[in-house]
Amino acid sequence: MLDEKLKYIEETGERPFLLLHACCAPCTSHTVLYLEKYFKIALYFFNPNIYPESEYIFRKSELCRFISETGLDREIKIIDGDYCPEKFFEISAGLENLPERGERCRRCIALRLEKTGLTAQELRADFFTTTLTISPHKDSDFINKCGGEISEKCGVEYLFSDFKKHDGYKHSIELSKKYDLYRQNYCGCVYSKTKRTP
Ligand code: SF4
Repeated sequence: MLDEKLKYIEETGERPFLLLHACCAPCTSHTVLYLEKYFKIALYFFNPNIYPESEYIFRKSELCRFISETGLDREIKIIDGDYCPEKFFEISAGLENLPERGERCRRCIALRLEKTGLTAQELRADFFTTTLTISPHKDSDFINKCGGEISEKCGVEYLFSDFKKHDGYKHSIELSKKYDLYRQNYCGCVYSKTKRTP
């Protein structure tokens, strides 16, 4: 689906505006390099799930460093979403002990995608999507279903994706080595930190 959409965009000769939700530098590395030929991109760092705050700040600073060291900062802006961990704790209450890919993760992903869709609407973006589908630990089908539903509410087209395809995940590991990016050993929230599921 993504390949067809990219081919169509290439044929139009236009470069639409994409708001790309970025969860961390390693996941963004391949994704942004893959998409920047087709889109004018703004990155949106909105991840209230990340715990503790020092980890949140460090993941964000690694994203900024990667964009700067690749020279993409000449064209790509990073929009800093609010750090509001209380919102994450609100939606995850009662679901603390569930394993990854369960209901807590679905709500966590929906929280981040909903805000990205609304921000894309405010910025009059042509598309929005997320780097999250590059992770082999995430359910891409759910992410895409959720993005499609939010798109209907916010009126901005969602870019369906599975960025791990075409060796995307492998490429992100290579880029992480090349730029010496911090690769966290847990997904983000306090519950995943305890269980150490990257
Ligand atoms: S494990 Fe990851 S996706 Fe699941 S709730 Fe925690 S931070 Fe969110």
